[in-house]
Amino acid sequence: MPYSRYLRQMLFPEVGRAGQERLARSTAVVVGLGALGTGVADLLARAGVGRVRLVDRDYVDETNLARQTLYDEDDCRQSLPKAIAAAEQLRQVNSGVQYEPWVVDVNARNAEQVIREAGVVVDGTDNLETRYLLNEACVGRGIPWVYGACVGSVGMTFTVLPGDGPCFRCYLPQAPAPGELPTCDTAGILGPAAALVAALEAAQALRVLLGKGDDSYTALKYIDVWTGELLSLPLARDPDCACCVRRQFPYLEGRVGSSATVMCGRDMVQVMPAEPVSLRLEEVARRLSLAGEVTANQFLVRAKLAGEVELIVFPDGRALVKGTTQPEVARSLYSRYLGT
Ligand SMILES: [Zn+2]
Repeated sequence: MPYSRYLRQMLFPEVGRAGQERLARSTAVVVGLGALGTGVADLLARAGVGRVRLVDRDYVDETNLARQTLYDEDDCRQSLPKAIAAAEQLRQVNSGVQYEPWVVDVNARNAEQVIREAGVVVDGTDNLETRYLLNEACVGRGIPWVYGACVGSVGMTFTVLPGDGPCFRCYLPQAPAPGELPTCDTAGILGPAAALVAALEAAQALRVLLGKGDDSYTALKYIDVWTGELLSLPLARDPDCACCVRRQFPYLEGRVGSSATVMCGRDMVQVMPAEPVSLRLEEVARRLSLAGEVTANQFLVRAKLAGEVELIVFPDGRALVKGTTQPEVARSLYSRYLGT
């Protein structure tokens, strides 16, 4: 593999030739390919991380283009899944990297597969449920993961080094009730805030992969790009933490977690089938075309239905119901059009 393209990066003493070779042998898993995830994946691919797994459940929509740097208008016209569009774009950037696009919802059934063989897992998700799940999976397997979040002009990040510092459950022992936290729906989001958090996350991921993750990143980095405020807040390990001390993994064991999830900022709800299924998309397209206008590609079927509702169906039986933010409405539409 030619290393000349990494010359400037190898001149940085913390990387060097040995570090670059180490990166080439590493695997990073980016979960969620929104503003944070695309920024992180772009930086890690350019830095020469050998294998990058790109995990996302959603497809490219025009409201993504203001921040999500791996997508363009053509991806949007084609309704490409984000994982596929991101991998296609990154192959143009660095063909020496092995990309693994996974168009899946991360849940209790597949979380351990998603993080398998990862040297580091990076959070690009938009919800606490998936973060608790990733935390349990990573703590259970001893895999470092980088938490990141962003809303409005504010962002934050810290790294969970299992066995060596606080985990996400130490930081946030109880999930706030729905509606208690600002979301991209209520507070909006600024591209520069996401770009900065993505850069911090990518830097932490590189440190972990280079074997130089240490205490400095287990502090919470808090930034506000509007005011220019930048804080580093020390976090302590909870000596009685349910996750990293008592090793209780309710999300991973599927004892908590919902089958209908409201998608942040999208006027959309995701519905999961109760059991894993394998759909024939042509058959789904044919059936839905009786009810509305259908477009399809090899990855999904998209149907515009009565009442400004859209249904986007994936081969694993998962569906995105657009035009509602009510899980019950989404679930009933799902069963109405797809059966249960
Ligand atoms: Zn903990």
